[in-house]
Amino acid sequence: MALPFKLVYTDDYYLPIGAHVFPAQKYRLIHKRLLESGIAEPPDFITPQPAQDEDILRVHTREYVQKLKMGTLSVQEEMQMEVPYSPELVKAFWLAAGGSILAAEWALREGAACNIGGGFHHAFPDHGEGFCVIHDVAVAIKRMHQDGKITRAMTVDCDVHDGNGTAAIFPPQGKTRIGQPLPSAGASQRDIHAAQEKPRKNGDQLEVFTISLHQAHNYPAYKPPSSIDVNLPDGTNDDEYLGWLDQSLSSAFRHFEPELLCYIAGADPYKEDQLGGLSLTIEGLKKRDELVLKVAKARNIPVMITYAGGYARRVEDTVTIHCNTILAAKEIFS
Ligand SMILES: [Zn+2]
Repeated sequence: MALPFKLVYTDDYYLPIGAHVFPAQKYRLIHKRLLESGIAEPPDFITPQPAQDEDILRVHTREYVQKLKMGTLSVQEEMQMEVPYSPELVKAFWLAAGGSILAAEWALREGAACNIGGGFHHAFPDHGEGFCVIHDVAVAIKRMHQDGKITRAMTVDCDVHDGNGTAAIFPPQGKTRIGQPLPSAGASQRDIHAAQEKPRKNGDQLEVFTISLHQAHNYPAYKPPSSIDVNLPDGTNDDEYLGWLDQSLSSAFRHFEPELLCYIAGADPYKEDQLGGLSLTIEGLKKRDELVLKVAKARNIPVMITYAGGYARRVEDTVTIHCNTILAAKEIFS
Protein backbone atom coordinates (compact mmCIF):
# COMPACT_ATOMS: atom_id res chain seq x y z
CA MET A 1 0.00 0.00 0.00
CA ALA A 2 1.25 3.44 -0.92
CA LEU A 3 2.45 5.76 1.81
CA PRO A 4 0.05 8.55 2.78
CA PHE A 5 2.83 11.06 2.12
CA LYS A 6 5.62 11.65 -0.38
CA LEU A 7 9.33 10.93 -0.09
CA VAL A 8 11.55 13.35 -1.97
CA TYR A 9 14.66 11.67 -3.31
CA THR A 10 17.23 11.49 -6.07
CA ASP A 11 20.44 9.46 -6.36
CA ASP A 12 22.15 12.81 -6.92
CA TYR A 13 21.80 13.67 -3.21
CA TYR A 14 25.07 11.78 -2.88
CA LEU A 15 27.71 14.26 -1.72
CA PRO A 16 30.99 14.05 -3.66
CA ILE A 17 33.26 14.43 -0.63
CA GLY A 18 35.40 11.27 -0.81
CA ALA A 19 36.32 9.35 2.35
CA HIS A 20 34.69 11.41 5.11
CA VAL A 21 33.04 10.96 8.49
CA PHE A 22 29.83 12.14 6.79
CA PRO A 23 28.51 8.98 5.10
CA ALA A 24 27.65 10.54 1.74
CA GLN A 25 26.28 7.23 0.54
CA LYS A 26 23.63 7.14 3.27
CA TYR A 27 20.90 8.61 1.07
CA ARG A 28 21.27 5.84 -1.51
CA LEU A 29 21.38 3.21 1.26
CA ILE A 30 18.23 4.62 2.87
CA HIS A 31 16.41 4.63 -0.48
CA LYS A 32 17.44 1.01 -1.06
CA ARG A 33 16.47 -0.10 2.46
CA LEU A 34 13.08 1.63 2.31
CA LEU A 35 12.25 -0.31 -0.84
CA GLU A 36 13.74 -3.65 0.27
CA SER A 37 11.99 -3.54 3.64
CA GLY A 38 8.65 -2.72 2.04
CA ILE A 39 8.30 0.48 4.08
CA ALA A 40 7.99 2.35 0.78
CA GLU A 41 7.31 1.54 -2.87
CA PRO A 42 8.67 3.22 -5.99
CA PRO A 43 5.56 5.43 -6.54
CA ASP A 44 6.05 6.95 -3.06
CA PHE A 45 9.15 8.77 -4.29
CA ILE A 46 9.16 12.07 -6.13
CA THR A 47 12.20 13.67 -7.75
CA PRO A 48 13.33 17.17 -6.82
CA GLN A 49 14.76 19.86 -9.07
CA PRO A 50 17.61 22.10 -7.91
CA ALA A 51 16.45 25.22 -6.09
CA GLN A 52 16.44 28.44 -8.12
CA ASP A 53 19.14 30.96 -7.27
CA GLU A 54 16.43 33.39 -6.17
CA ASP A 55 15.28 30.81 -3.59
CA ILE A 56 18.82 30.45 -2.26
CA LEU A 57 19.26 34.24 -2.18
CA ARG A 58 16.32 34.68 0.20
CA VAL A 59 18.56 33.07 2.84
CA HIS A 60 22.15 33.46 1.68
CA THR A 61 24.12 36.56 0.73
CA ARG A 62 24.83 37.32 -2.91
CA GLU A 63 28.54 37.41 -2.16
CA TYR A 64 28.53 33.90 -0.64
CA VAL A 65 26.40 32.46 -3.46
CA GLN A 66 28.76 34.05 -5.97
CA LYS A 67 31.78 32.47 -4.27
CA LEU A 68 30.11 29.05 -4.35
CA LYS A 69 29.21 29.34 -8.01
CA MET A 70 32.56 30.73 -9.11
CA GLY A 71 34.66 28.51 -6.85
CA THR A 72 36.27 31.49 -5.14
CA LEU A 73 35.91 30.56 -1.46
CA SER A 74 39.02 31.29 0.57
CA VAL A 75 41.00 28.41 2.06
CA GLN A 76 39.66 29.47 5.44
CA GLU A 77 36.05 29.41 4.23
CA GLU A 78 36.49 25.98 2.69
CA MET A 79 38.04 24.65 5.90
CA GLN A 80 35.13 25.99 7.90
CA MET A 81 32.71 24.06 5.65
CA GLU A 82 34.59 20.87 6.55
CA VAL A 83 33.72 19.36 3.18
CA PRO A 84 35.94 19.73 0.10
CA TYR A 85 34.67 22.28 -2.41
CA SER A 86 33.73 21.21 -5.92
CA PRO A 87 31.15 22.42 -8.43
CA GLU A 88 29.43 19.02 -7.97
CA LEU A 89 29.17 19.68 -4.23
CA VAL A 90 27.43 22.97 -4.92
CA LYS A 91 25.02 21.20 -7.29
CA ALA A 92 24.19 18.62 -4.62
CA PHE A 93 23.34 21.37 -2.11
CA TRP A 94 21.15 23.26 -4.60
CA LEU A 95 19.37 19.96 -5.16
CA ALA A 96 18.93 19.32 -1.43
CA ALA A 97 17.38 22.78 -1.10
CA GLY A 98 15.07 22.08 -4.05
CA GLY A 99 14.15 18.83 -2.30
CA SER A 100 13.19 20.60 0.89
CA ILE A 101 11.08 23.09 -1.08
CA LEU A 102 9.27 20.18 -2.73
CA ALA A 103 8.84 18.40 0.62
CA ALA A 104 7.40 21.57 2.18
CA GLU A 105 4.93 21.94 -0.71
CA TRP A 106 3.76 18.34 -0.35
CA ALA A 107 3.60 18.59 3.42
CA LEU A 108 1.26 21.55 3.08
CA ARG A 109 -0.81 19.59 0.56
CA GLU A 110 -0.98 16.20 2.31
CA GLY A 111 -0.07 16.80 5.96
CA ALA A 112 3.41 15.30 5.81
CA ALA A 113 6.39 14.78 3.49
CA CYS A 114 10.00 13.78 3.91
CA ASN A 115 13.09 14.93 2.12
CA ILE A 116 15.41 11.89 2.13
CA GLY A 117 18.24 14.38 2.58
CA GLY A 118 18.65 17.98 3.68
CA GLY A 119 18.60 19.30 7.24
CA PHE A 120 21.80 21.29 6.74
CA HIS A 121 21.27 23.35 9.85
CA HIS A 122 24.83 24.68 10.28
CA ALA A 123 24.77 26.81 7.11
CA PHE A 124 24.76 30.58 7.75
CA PRO A 125 23.66 33.37 5.38
CA ASP A 126 27.26 34.22 4.48
CA HIS A 127 29.19 31.01 5.07
CA GLY A 128 28.95 27.26 5.37
CA GLU A 129 30.20 25.17 8.25
CA GLY A 130 29.94 21.72 9.79
CA PHE A 131 29.35 19.87 6.47
CA CYS A 132 26.55 22.33 5.61
CA VAL A 133 26.79 24.64 2.61
CA ILE A 134 23.18 25.77 2.00
CA HIS A 135 20.44 25.90 4.65
CA ASP A 136 17.81 23.94 2.75
CA VAL A 137 15.17 24.15 5.51
CA ALA A 138 15.41 27.94 5.73
CA VAL A 139 15.27 28.14 1.93
CA ALA A 140 12.07 26.05 1.95
CA ILE A 141 10.45 28.10 4.73
CA LYS A 142 11.20 31.38 2.95
CA ARG A 143 9.93 30.03 -0.35
CA MET A 144 6.65 28.87 1.24
CA HIS A 145 6.29 32.36 2.72
CA GLN A 146 7.13 33.99 -0.61
CA ASP A 147 4.43 31.87 -2.26
CA GLY A 148 1.91 33.12 0.30
CA LYS A 149 1.43 29.64 1.76
CA ILE A 150 2.59 30.29 5.33
CA THR A 151 3.46 33.11 7.71
CA ARG A 152 4.39 30.96 10.72
CA ALA A 153 6.82 28.03 10.76
CA MET A 154 8.43 26.05 13.55
CA THR A 155 11.71 24.16 13.37
CA VAL A 156 12.15 21.19 15.72
CA ASP A 157 15.82 20.31 15.55
CA CYS A 158 16.66 16.96 17.16
CA ASP A 159 20.12 16.58 15.67
CA VAL A 160 22.71 16.13 18.44
CA HIS A 161 24.38 19.36 17.34
CA ASP A 162 22.92 22.79 17.98
CA GLY A 163 21.05 24.33 15.05
CA ASN A 164 23.29 27.39 14.97
CA GLY A 165 22.61 28.29 11.33
CA THR A 166 18.85 28.13 11.88
CA ALA A 167 19.10 30.36 14.95
CA ALA A 168 21.27 32.86 13.06
CA ILE A 169 18.87 33.00 10.10
CA PHE A 170 15.75 33.19 12.27
CA PRO A 171 16.82 34.97 15.48
CA PRO A 172 14.07 34.85 18.10
CA GLN A 173 12.12 38.09 18.26
CA GLY A 174 8.62 39.14 19.22
CA LYS A 175 6.61 36.13 20.16
CA THR A 176 9.20 33.63 18.97
CA ARG A 177 11.46 34.68 21.83
CA ILE A 178 10.49 32.86 24.97
CA GLY A 179 13.25 33.66 27.37
CA GLN A 180 15.96 31.74 29.12
CA PRO A 181 17.64 28.68 27.65
CA LEU A 182 16.54 25.43 29.18
CA PRO A 183 18.78 24.05 31.90
CA SER A 184 22.39 23.71 30.93
CA ALA A 185 24.39 20.52 31.15
CA GLY A 186 24.04 18.80 34.48
CA ALA A 187 21.17 20.91 35.72
CA SER A 188 18.37 18.99 37.36
CA GLN A 189 15.73 21.67 37.38
CA ARG A 190 13.06 20.84 34.86
CA ASP A 191 11.27 24.14 34.53
CA ILE A 192 10.93 25.78 31.20
CA HIS A 193 11.15 29.52 31.53
CA ALA A 194 8.90 31.21 29.09
CA ALA A 195 7.10 34.48 28.73
CA GLN A 196 3.33 34.17 28.86
CA GLU A 197 2.64 35.50 25.43
CA LYS A 198 -0.22 34.23 23.33
CA PRO A 199 -0.17 33.83 19.56
CA ARG A 200 -1.43 36.82 17.62
CA LYS A 201 -1.69 37.83 14.01
CA ASN A 202 1.20 39.78 12.59
CA GLY A 203 0.30 40.68 9.03
CA ASP A 204 2.23 38.91 6.33
CA GLN A 205 5.54 38.94 8.13
CA LEU A 206 7.27 35.57 8.46
CA GLU A 207 7.68 34.31 11.99
CA VAL A 208 9.79 31.26 12.72
CA PHE A 209 9.88 29.58 16.10
CA THR A 210 13.06 27.56 16.55
CA ILE A 211 13.59 24.63 18.94
CA SER A 212 16.98 22.97 19.29
CA LEU A 213 17.64 19.97 21.52
CA HIS A 214 21.36 19.34 21.49
CA GLN A 215 24.32 18.10 23.47
CA ALA A 216 25.72 21.07 25.41
CA HIS A 217 29.34 19.92 25.20
CA ASN A 218 29.62 19.52 21.47
CA TYR A 219 30.07 21.48 18.25
CA PRO A 220 29.36 24.35 17.68
CA ALA A 221 31.25 26.15 20.45
CA TYR A 222 29.07 29.24 20.13
CA LYS A 223 25.37 28.45 20.09
CA PRO A 224 23.26 31.45 19.10
CA PRO A 225 19.92 31.51 20.93
CA SER A 226 16.94 29.64 19.50
CA SER A 227 13.38 30.28 20.70
CA ILE A 228 13.87 27.20 22.89
CA ASP A 229 17.30 25.69 23.53
CA VAL A 230 17.70 22.46 25.44
CA ASN A 231 21.34 22.02 26.44
CA LEU A 232 21.52 18.32 27.16
CA PRO A 233 24.21 16.82 29.39
CA ASP A 234 26.55 14.15 28.03
CA GLY A 235 25.05 10.68 28.18
CA THR A 236 21.39 11.79 28.18
CA ASN A 237 19.31 8.61 27.77
CA ASP A 238 16.03 7.82 26.02
CA ASP A 239 13.68 8.67 28.87
CA GLU A 240 15.44 11.89 29.79
CA TYR A 241 15.55 12.98 26.16
CA LEU A 242 11.89 12.19 25.54
CA GLY A 243 10.98 14.12 28.68
CA TRP A 244 12.81 17.21 27.48
CA LEU A 245 11.36 16.93 23.99
CA ASP A 246 7.85 16.61 25.37
CA GLN A 247 8.29 19.69 27.56
CA SER A 248 9.84 21.72 24.75
CA LEU A 249 6.99 20.95 22.38
CA SER A 250 4.36 21.65 25.04
CA SER A 251 5.99 24.95 25.88
CA ALA A 252 6.40 25.91 22.22
CA PHE A 253 2.77 25.24 21.36
CA ARG A 254 1.60 27.29 24.33
CA HIS A 255 3.22 30.28 22.64
CA PHE A 256 3.12 29.63 18.95
CA GLU A 257 0.85 27.89 16.47
CA PRO A 258 2.79 27.17 13.26
CA GLU A 259 1.35 26.47 9.84
CA LEU A 260 4.31 24.26 8.98
CA LEU A 261 6.53 22.19 11.28
CA CYS A 262 10.02 21.42 9.99
CA TYR A 263 11.39 18.40 11.79
CA ILE A 264 15.17 18.02 11.57
CA ALA A 265 15.52 14.36 12.43
CA GLY A 266 19.26 13.94 13.00
CA ALA A 267 20.35 10.35 13.64
CA ASP A 268 23.33 11.43 15.73
CA PRO A 269 21.86 11.48 19.27
CA TYR A 270 22.42 7.69 18.94
CA LYS A 271 24.68 6.18 21.59
CA GLU A 272 27.00 4.67 18.96
CA ASP A 273 27.52 7.93 17.09
CA GLN A 274 31.08 9.01 16.39
CA LEU A 275 30.31 12.73 16.65
CA GLY A 276 27.73 12.62 19.40
CA GLY A 277 27.86 12.05 23.15
CA LEU A 278 24.25 11.25 24.02
CA SER A 279 23.01 7.75 24.82
CA LEU A 280 19.82 7.24 22.87
CA THR A 281 19.00 3.79 21.53
CA ILE A 282 17.55 3.02 18.11
CA GLU A 283 14.20 2.34 19.83
CA GLY A 284 14.43 5.64 21.73
CA LEU A 285 15.09 7.54 18.53
CA LYS A 286 11.99 6.03 16.94
CA LYS A 287 9.95 7.11 20.00
CA ARG A 288 11.40 10.60 19.51
CA ASP A 289 10.15 10.60 15.90
CA GLU A 290 6.75 9.33 17.02
CA LEU A 291 6.44 12.06 19.63
CA VAL A 292 7.14 14.90 17.19
CA LEU A 293 4.91 13.44 14.49
CA LYS A 294 2.03 12.63 16.86
CA VAL A 295 2.02 16.15 18.23
CA ALA A 296 1.99 17.59 14.70
CA LYS A 297 -0.81 15.27 13.63
CA ALA A 298 -2.90 15.90 16.73
CA ARG A 299 -2.70 19.64 16.06
CA ASN A 300 -3.24 19.30 12.34
CA ILE A 301 0.08 20.93 11.54
CA PRO A 302 1.73 19.87 8.29
CA VAL A 303 5.13 18.39 8.98
CA MET A 304 8.13 18.33 6.70
CA ILE A 305 10.97 16.00 7.66
CA THR A 306 14.66 16.36 6.81
CA TYR A 307 17.53 14.13 7.91
CA ALA A 308 20.60 16.16 8.95
CA GLY A 309 23.49 14.22 10.57
CA GLY A 310 24.19 10.60 11.49
CA TYR A 311 27.67 9.17 12.03
CA ALA A 312 27.12 5.80 13.67
CA ARG A 313 30.15 3.51 13.77
CA ARG A 314 28.14 1.14 11.59
CA VAL A 315 26.52 3.05 8.72
CA GLU A 316 23.73 0.42 8.77
CA ASP A 317 22.61 1.86 12.12
CA THR A 318 22.36 5.35 10.68
CA VAL A 319 20.30 3.92 7.82
CA THR A 320 18.03 2.08 10.27
CA ILE A 321 17.45 5.22 12.35
CA HIS A 322 16.57 7.29 9.28
CA CYS A 323 14.31 4.55 7.85
CA ASN A 324 12.57 4.26 11.22
CA THR A 325 11.56 7.92 10.91
CA ILE A 326 9.61 6.99 7.76
CA LEU A 327 8.22 3.92 9.49
CA ALA A 328 7.03 6.06 12.41
CA ALA A 329 5.40 8.50 9.99
CA LYS A 330 3.76 5.62 8.13
CA GLU A 331 2.30 4.24 11.37
CA ILE A 332 1.06 7.63 12.52
CA PHE A 333 -0.30 9.06 9.28
CA SER A 334 -1.83 5.86 7.85
ZN1 LIG B 1 24.67 16.63 13.83
